[in-house]
Amino acid sequence: MDLKNKKITIIGAVRSGVGAAKLIKKVGGIPFVSDMADEKHLKEFVDELQQENIKFETGGHTEKVYDCEMMVVSPGVPNNAPVLINARKNHISLISEVELSYRYCKGNIIAITGTNGKTTTTSLCGHVFNQCGRNAFVAGNIGLAFSEIALDVEENEFVALEVSSFQLDLIEKFKPKVAMILNITPDHLYRYDESIDKYAASKQNIYENQDAGDYLILNKDNGTVLKYLKDHKSKSFYFSFINELDNGCFKRNERIQFKKNGKEVFSCNVSDIKIKGEHNLANAMAVICAAKIFKLDNHKIIKALQAFEGVEHRLEFVREIDGVKFINDSKATNIDSVWYALKSFDEPIILILGGQDKGNDYDQIQALVIERVKKIYAIGSSAEKIFSFFHSLVKVEIKKSLEDVTTTVINEARQGDVVLLSPACASFDMFDNYEHRGEVFKKAVNSL
Ligand code: ADP
Repeated sequence: MDLKNKKITIIGAVRSGVGAAKLIKKVGGIPFVSDMADEKHLKEFVDELQQENIKFETGGHTEKVYDCEMMVVSPGVPNNAPVLINARKNHISLISEVELSYRYCKGNIIAITGTNGKTTTTSLCGHVFNQCGRNAFVAGNIGLAFSEIALDVEENEFVALEVSSFQLDLIEKFKPKVAMILNITPDHLYRYDESIDKYAASKQNIYENQDAGDYLILNKDNGTVLKYLKDHKSKSFYFSFINELDNGCFKRNERIQFKKNGKEVFSCNVSDIKIKGEHNLANAMAVICAAKIFKLDNHKIIKALQAFEGVEHRLEFVREIDGVKFINDSKATNIDSVWYALKSFDEPIILILGGQDKGNDYDQIQALVIERVKKIYAIGSSAEKIFSFFHSLVKVEIKKSLEDVTTTVINEARQGDVVLLSPACASFDMFDNYEHRGEVFKKAVNSL
């Protein structure tokens, strides 16, 4: 892609938008960034654009955005946004930042998507590859934009790349060496006309350009992943808790095994995987598939799995007080992740639920709540909904803040209980984002 002296508009002055603008400038293009939000909400990004001498506008899109050869669209901008509709009318091609960065990246891309587990798996993948002596960047929807590093990656190096379905909606040639789909469950459906078909189809874009020299890693146990699988040329590996596989990673008794063409080439103990819960075993199995595709050393893989502590705000252990463990799972913003969080503890659970509801169907966790949860604390704008759904099944109390919850819970919890913040909801009714919610929870727990 030759962008020399070409005008490129970037819609969305977020992290990936700023990264895209910098990349375009580095390769000789002329970037222009435009965002609907006010400058004060974009401060850190605007500062960076100014430092880089990149032109931008905030507080709305003017006609200037259409004076370009191509638009790079940030993941937060919905497909039906007027600016994109107009751009299409003007025959301007639209791509995502992932597509742009891909065109300039020489290394091996391991692209990871799914409804849940992307960040954990991407971090673990980067960690395992690095510990095994391969140079791997960790990028994507995970703090460091792909565009920030794409030009630096050498041919023999790796990028563990977290990709959301929004990024995959606007790809053209994106062709990762390895693509993973961890799982597909209902989430973000508001961006897909409430249609799981459309959401699932968008995730399946991850492998559409792969050829016979590429690899696809899939969750054999997730019906939705399999149902929407499209024809593909790449070689598939699966991971599963249910089936033994000739090509893939599976659990048998307390062992994790990986077979290629029916031959075992890797095995370790379940207990070698430090991160907790069945879902994290699944994430680890996906990474083991990738590691063995590149023939990484078994002993080093196991050492890396033993050392990986997990990612902040995902089933993160905060503190134990008088035998009561406090766990921060603020990133659990949908029902499926709460289901796995509840499955991850044998102890009685005091569950903190609530926030901005995403049309949650609590039926899916009802049985587990009855089995494992002693009490629910409900917070945020969905507290009433949670109360009405659960109060006939388990004790439910509505609280105004996380601080109120922790000061009450410390007097009620018994030795051996787990206090779990796994809210099943977005955070924006009370907090800036899920990180902020997790920080507030940890601070409240640490001040007890
Ligand atoms: P993502 O980046 O896809 O949001 P994260 O790794 O940040 O995924 O995890 C988000 C939430 O989902 C956390 O609560 C985490 O414990 C849970 N989770 C992680 N992996 C899985 C999985 N494979 N299946 C279901 N839930 C998961």
